[in-house]
Amino acid sequence: MIKPKSRNPIISPSKTVKQTTSLDTEEALRITRNQLEVILENVGDAITAQDAGGKIIFANAQAAKLAGHRSIKALLKSPPFDYLKKYLITDEQEKPIRLDQMPGRRALAGEKDPQLLAKFTHKKTGVIYWLKIKSITIFGRDKKPYMVISTIHDITESKLAEQEKADFLNMASHELKTPLTSLWMFIQLLAKKPTAEHSKNLLEKIQDQTRRLIKLTNDLLDISRLETGKLGLNKERFELDKMVAETVDEMQQLTNKHRLILSNMKIMVRADKFRLYQVLVNLLTNAIKYSPAGEKIIISVIRSKGQAIVSVQDFGIGIDLSHHKNIFNKLIRLSDNPENTYPGLGLGLYISKEIVEKHHGKIWVESEKNKGSTFFFSIPLE
Ligand code: ADP
Repeated sequence: MIKPKSRNPIISPSKTVKQTTSLDTEEALRITRNQLEVILENVGDAITAQDAGGKIIFANAQAAKLAGHRSIKALLKSPPFDYLKKYLITDEQEKPIRLDQMPGRRALAGEKDPQLLAKFTHKKTGVIYWLKIKSITIFGRDKKPYMVISTIHDITESKLAEQEKADFLNMASHELKTPLTSLWMFIQLLAKKPTAEHSKNLLEKIQDQTRRLIKLTNDLLDISRLETGKLGLNKERFELDKMVAETVDEMQQLTNKHRLILSNMKIMVRADKFRLYQVLVNLLTNAIKYSPAGEKIIISVIRSKGQAIVSVQDFGIGIDLSHHKNIFNKLIRLSDNPENTYPGLGLGLYISKEIVEKHHGKIWVESEKNKGSTFFFSIPLE
């Protein structure tokens, strides 16, 4: 609501009416302009107005930022289409977009409400923005377009998430395909030459690949449970040392290259037994997988400062200090581990971390390249 200004009694009535009206109009305009500025600065989208020659005559702070300028003033001073010098503009198929394909130009050429989704890659820094641009034309009294208003919606985040999902699906399919192909091959061989000695070897290989498939499928299911908040804990009281000893026995059956050595302290915990078993299996599988020369693996269960601490130490390829933190992130696979040497999706440690943290515990690693790694996890005692 615009309040009228108080009247000045000294001014004659006719003058008063006239002046009040112009003051009212001025005040109304000022308020409207202020409101408009507040709206434009807070919409989140970048907004520009260009004249028929492409010169920007209005912009909000978001527009200045996207165009790589420090201030709106700097953007307004810049020559028309300055952004073309800074960015490589392509479509979703990486095809370059020409200036006449940009919505602003198309709007001026008479097209109604043109829009475009474009990838802007900064030529110097390589930073990528995915922008959805819409333009509308404002026509003058002579019915000719004299201004174009463009709104630029930054969808970089959702585009990157989409890309991450597609990459994940691609990797998961690849990881599932590898053991399936091997299984198919081994079964074919078994069908051709079913001699007893030959069969034993092939059946062991089939067992390995089936185990790998089950682990992968379970990991994928857990990721989906974690992302939808459906991975709950089923807590019970149990002897942690017993569970660790049984798991170590079970894993020892799977390797004759490695010697699993356990030092155990009797500890009672209240936790999700199956989920902690899963964390331990992940750590033991990695210890075996990433120490291909096959040596001892030392497992220990201790009690310290109100925590139960389980550790798994291997003497394998080790992990560079720079990776110690990010190794627990989703889909992290170290590039210096060639993909074919150590298959995996980079999910095991991420799932383990989520499980341990759901127990209000911690998971961490101590490791040195080429010397081996020790993974620890701790959960609070009751
Ligand atoms: P995956 O083994 O399926 O790739 P993980 O999440 O279990 O996934 O591990 C992530 C990455 O951490 C692995 O790709 C590997 O590079 C590294 N890593 C995990 N455990 C060890 C270990 N014991 N020794 C060396 N590197 C390891």
